[in-house]
Amino acid sequence: MRRSALALLLFAPSVILSAPTGPLQAGAAPLPVFEFHSGFWINLHHFLYQQARQRRDAKDSKSAVPPAPAAAELSPAERAAWEAAVRYYSANFADTDLAFNSDLGAVKDKLSDLENCAELSGKTTKDCDAEFPPALTRALEAAALVYRAHWWPQHDRDNRRWIAQAAPLVRQNGVGLAQRLAEIYQAKWPREKIRVDICAYANWAGAYTTLDPLRVTISSEDPRNQGLAALEILFHEASHGLAGPVELAILRECRQLGKPIPRDLWHALLFYTTGEVIKQLIQPPPASASDAPAATGATATSSAPGLPNAPNSTAYVPYAVREGLYKRGWAGYQRALEQFWQPYLDGKADFDDAIARIVSAL
Ligand SMILES: [Zn+2]
Repeated sequence: MRRSALALLLFAPSVILSAPTGPLQAGAAPLPVFEFHSGFWINLHHFLYQQARQRRDAKDSKSAVPPAPAAAELSPAERAAWEAAVRYYSANFADTDLAFNSDLGAVKDKLSDLENCAELSGKTTKDCDAEFPPALTRALEAAALVYRAHWWPQHDRDNRRWIAQAAPLVRQNGVGLAQRLAEIYQAKWPREKIRVDICAYANWAGAYTTLDPLRVTISSEDPRNQGLAALEILFHEASHGLAGPVELAILRECRQLGKPIPRDLWHALLFYTTGEVIKQLIQPPPASASDAPAATGATATSSAPGLPNAPNSTAYVPYAVREGLYKRGWAGYQRALEQFWQPYLDGKADFDDAIARIVSAL
């Protein structure tokens, strides 16, 4: 990123952000495992990206980008500033993927860090200098006035509502889930809390993760991320940071067998695992007579605390099943995971053996 020493000062110095925000925890006690943020600049960034992407994909009926809300009542000056920013995003970002492009990831992380800054060129506080190309700084600062006036209040409310819904689930189950997943993947859960930026819009998938540093972005408005699915999506995304040993084991087995690496097998395995772990948390398997003494009153449908709609007779449907991921080219993976990975999750097989069996079955 070039330094923006000569950034044009389009941002009125009198305009300040709302009260500074840090991690939002929706309760008195700090949350374990994750820290949630509803940051102004990162929300603006994703909204602009989404609008630019939507224009690019206007003719593409396969596009999963949700429709933008009807443009608010913009004055001619506001419309010009907004259009300039969308044009910048169209020209520079719309053809790159938020989850895989490192430049775009660096922009996102910087905007996330500067959530409490009123501007991005460092003219009021040196720490607020994003060191972006001047044209990007100008576009964001000019669009910020429009975004704040017309969209941000609603987006911020949606983000805070999502956080208020997810926080009790994380408070009650976060530590246990983190330990369980780290154990499954034979990896270490990060010592620091994982930063999760909640945005009205995330990407086509509704959530994504970037590594080094490990950071998660989740859409608060995406219908796929609501209710108990919030817990699954959080831990699925965080698992991207634990996938190294799984990817290595797959690679090793493929090399030994002289097979090509099955595309996205590691990712299907992550979806499968998080889905099963959350399902078990909500609906533990029926306890056997020997480990469920009648005096405890435990029942087959008792669930972990803090889960709002459990116990319930309806089974939890994991994300990958609900959203049809296995039907889109992953049917073979699903069969192999059910047959060879599930025994590992149940403690009846070891890690290397399970991976070896999956790879040889494909
Ligand atoms: Zn994923």
